[in-house]
Amino acid sequence: MGKHKDRLRIGTAGIPHSTKPRSSKHAIKRLHELGLGCMELEFVRSVQMGENTAAEVGAVAQELDISLTVHAPYYVNLNSKEPEKIAASKERVLKAARIGAIAGARSVTFHAAYYHDDDPEEVYNNVRDHLWEIRRILDQEGINLRLSPETTGSPSQFGTLEEIVRLSQDIPGVGPCIDFSHLYTRSIGEFNTYDDFASALQLVKDSLGEEALKTMHIHLSGIEYGPKGERKHLILEETEFNYQAVLQALVDFNVRGNLICESPILEDDALILQEIYSELYEKR
Ligand SMILES: [Zn+2]
Repeated sequence: MGKHKDRLRIGTAGIPHSTKPRSSKHAIKRLHELGLGCMELEFVRSVQMGENTAAEVGAVAQELDISLTVHAPYYVNLNSKEPEKIAASKERVLKAARIGAIAGARSVTFHAAYYHDDDPEEVYNNVRDHLWEIRRILDQEGINLRLSPETTGSPSQFGTLEEIVRLSQDIPGVGPCIDFSHLYTRSIGEFNTYDDFASALQLVKDSLGEEALKTMHIHLSGIEYGPKGERKHLILEETEFNYQAVLQALVDFNVRGNLICESPILEDDALILQEIYSELYEKR
């Protein structure tokens, strides 16, 4: 017990491949066996989990000290021109948040919007207003899990680091989900040094306070970019993305919270990340 105390928790985006039988409950047991510390419930197509299952998953997670986060469906666009699509987007985030809350998840992440051809400032205002509304509804329901819009992988998607941090400043109960692999692909490979990653964490610290670094929601995996940004996730061994430098920056800034590995070989790469992180942490 207490293995993950005072450490950044590292885990998988969804059910580890080596889980048998394949269920979220067994996934948590498997993560515990592997010595990992967290899991993201992947509701990326739709929210299929029911309330009873969520409660059961939450009980096992609490017992085995596995911290949970949620990924809401991909089909979210808070800058759609069609009011029905905005309403459906809000519903998807709300549903993911409600089920996540029953499971005791601490944070729900989502890709907030597309720019289309709109002025980014106008898009920002649209996203902010709709996110405020989602937050108000959850507050009214007594649901306090954090809304964590994600830094996205392509320049056509809303979600620069600055936009995500600004939303977190503007709306209480909103915090950043920083996908470092996405910062790399949306910059078409530019954002890839220790100093870049450290500057991202410095911005969080300066804008949101030291406390924000203690409750981070992070995504990390191997990844490949093309001319339009994110192309596909890769295993760590095959990526040119400097994930080791990300881990060093996370150690140096004394970051805590949940780091979710989204590599195709989920737990194998999560264990590699945890091993490197632990080595760097001991040496700090
Ligand atoms: Zn995502």
